[in-house]
Amino acid sequence: MKADAYGHSLALCAPAVVRAGAQWLGVTSVEEGVHARTVCSSARILVISGVFPGQGAAVLKHNLTPVVWDETHFAELESAARAANAAPQSIPVHLEIDTGMSRQGIAPEETANVLKRFTPQSPLRLEGVMTHLYAADEADGRITGEQLARLELALTQIKSAGHSVEWLNVGNSAALLGGQAQAIGSLAARFGMKALLRPGFALYGLAPKVEGAEDDRQLLTEQQLKPVLAWKTRVVSLRTLQPGDTVGYNATFTATEPMRVALIAVGYGDGLTRSLGNRFALLVRGRRAPLIGRVSMDQAVMDVTEIPEVQSGDEVILIGSQGGETITAFDHAKAAQTIPWEIFTRIGARVPRVAV
Ligand SMILES: *Cc1c(COP(=O)(O)O)cnc(C)c1O
Repeated sequence: MKADAYGHSLALCAPAVVRAGAQWLGVTSVEEGVHARTVCSSARILVISGVFPGQGAAVLKHNLTPVVWDETHFAELESAARAANAAPQSIPVHLEIDTGMSRQGIAPEETANVLKRFTPQSPLRLEGVMTHLYAADEADGRITGEQLARLELALTQIKSAGHSVEWLNVGNSAALLGGQAQAIGSLAARFGMKALLRPGFALYGLAPKVEGAEDDRQLLTEQQLKPVLAWKTRVVSLRTLQPGDTVGYNATFTATEPMRVALIAVGYGDGLTRSLGNRFALLVRGRRAPLIGRVSMDQAVMDVTEIPEVQSGDEVILIGSQGGETITAFDHAKAAQTIPWEIFTRIGARVPRVAV
């Protein structure tokens, strides 16, 4: 649910996944966790990316479950627990192990040392062990195998120190759909733990591209999932251009013949990638209309010469289907040289999110 549910709206999506049976929500920060708590009063909320000094009280007050690995996380949570007179073992935390991404977590070799913090008197309870797979979208599984082996080293130390931990918290959408859920599940079972996967992207109805996957498997997941988001705007007004007329900032488009163009109410301030000007097409009246000229902050212009029935107020599709045509977040990502995760999370706050 991080990044406002990948741009889809936490307020709309978090209650929807809880209604569908989700018991845990994952967010990145304490701020996001507090927001998630306002829309979901009872779900567990995992705060993935650390606790800053001063945020411990909010973690306790809103019953958030932080991922911890740094000395500052322990210090902050322990002092908030003292201030709140929290009972021993009353604050569940998930300890992250760095199995190779070098982003978050303790080295497996540090595990025994860090475990000393989890005394019976500590207000913190080691409820989960977490790591993040950084190449789950690579079909050969080599890196994931190495990461799980490093994780196993840490789990062995945790077990021999006498801790029994409930959750093995590993794996994103690619791990879930790319066939690694099995390996995660059996690792968890070997240590008497339950597997907790953290799919994000797939929740929104898209399958990550698995590098080197057999096409059949990729297609299967694509057919089983349905994107939940459509992104729409409308035609503001139309005008006719004469040969020699130019369009937009810096005149990057010049008409060479009479044209009909539509002004649309979306720009880079809404998340439409600026570099798509003169390089992408959107849908109106079920047909593709090329973006011409530069994309402005608030507006863009489409060539609708071939679609003469277009009128002011017509619906324009940036992502979604119209007639027999479809534009996906993958199409935007390819044209913008990025990944669909970034396309979704850049859709601006001023674009209203509406549940249908
Ligand atoms: C974002 C994130 C996920 C979800 O990744 P998807 O590829 O969107 O499924 C899982 N775990 C962590 C730690 C993340 O940061």
